[in-house]
Amino acid sequence: MELTCEKCGARYQIEDRAIPVGGRKVKCSACAHAWHQPAPAARKIDESVLNILREEVAYEQRARAQTPPRPEDTPPPKVQLPAKPPAPGDPPGFAIGFWGTLAVAALALGVYILAPQIRAARPEAAQTLDSYTTIVGQTRQALHRALENVVKRGGGG
Ligand SMILES: [Zn+2]
Repeated sequence: MELTCEKCGARYQIEDRAIPVGGRKVKCSACAHAWHQPAPAARKIDESVLNILREEVAYEQRARAQTPPRPEDTPPPKVQLPAKPPAPGDPPGFAIGFWGTLAVAALALGVYILAPQIRAARPEAAQTLDSYTTIVGQTRQALHRALENVVKRGGGG
């Protein structure tokens, strides 16, 4: 609190607890004026109540100092998984790729092995195994022979 001399106006800054609840007699060091200084307004509260309040504040401060930071005080951690490229030996993808390749290879191998049998069993199917140009050439030759037969039959008639 701040004390002001009633006589010379000198100001003194003193601690509140320097003045008891009932006040005390102070003396100006500048002019030697003495007067009875009443306690500040806050000090008029019963000292026991103030002590209890101080204890509460001190207890609260100690509790906060010992308590770890609460979750809402700390920012939420960012859950960001690093981008992980698929490993060469990744089990799922490798299995699918392996069996898929094996299935295609088995199908191609089966067609290759059965190709002669297909040609023998289905002669017309053998043409489908040949190139398209060969099929077209054979068709044109067959058609040409057919036309020649028609012409010969018609002409020789
Ligand atoms: Zn004074």
